[in-house]
Amino acid sequence: MASIHVAGGGEIQVGKIVCLLRNYRAHAAEMKSAPPKEPYFFLKPSTSIIHDGGRIAIPPHSKNVHHEVELAVVIGKVAKGVSKASAMEHVSAYAILIDVTARDVQDEAKNDRRPWAAAKGFDTFCPISDAVSAAKVPDPHNLGIWLKVNGEFRQRGSTSQMIFDVPTIIEYVSGIMTLEPGDVIATGTPEGVGPIASGDVVEAGVDGVGALKVSVA
Ligand code: MG
Repeated sequence: MASIHVAGGGEIQVGKIVCLLRNYRAHAAEMKSAPPKEPYFFLKPSTSIIHDGGRIAIPPHSKNVHHEVELAVVIGKVAKGVSKASAMEHVSAYAILIDVTARDVQDEAKNDRRPWAAAKGFDTFCPISDAVSAAKVPDPHNLGIWLKVNGEFRQRGSTSQMIFDVPTIIEYVSGIMTLEPGDVIATGTPEGVGPIASGDVVEAGVDGVGALKVSVA
């Protein structure tokens, strides 16, 4: 079972990973897609998790693997059909997550109208930082979010640019599938996604939550 470390002690067993798509307008534009009308999402397997200091493995299936830095929301209490008003009571922690994506595998899937599970689900495709207690993050909707490759900024934005905020996402997703303690919601990526290659060092952070450093094998 995959788990994440909690800053200050403890482990969280990770359940499902719910990933929002195109939740930042400028990223939707760079993907040549319209912004979503609802909080569209897909699932990433917990077996793709690696931790700080880990190594992303480029699979032989892909020649174009991309980084997507995202604020991750960790669920602490069962959420089934919750309203926006009470949604935040179900959040226990936050973390930084890189939604690693085999872009060429995804493009083929899109063209054939197939699911994205393969493109998003390779082992090592979900680097995640230690989790920080929600009590220490008073406003998750106003945090700088960034990613560097080999020391150079590639992504730089603010969580204030999310199209659907965390309560809206939890209301929408929990109206479809029950969210359980240890489930993680990846809230989408700002613009600037791009390729990573063997030997690259990838650092990502969310101000007030922390940072994460991994390399590409
Ligand atoms: Mg993503």
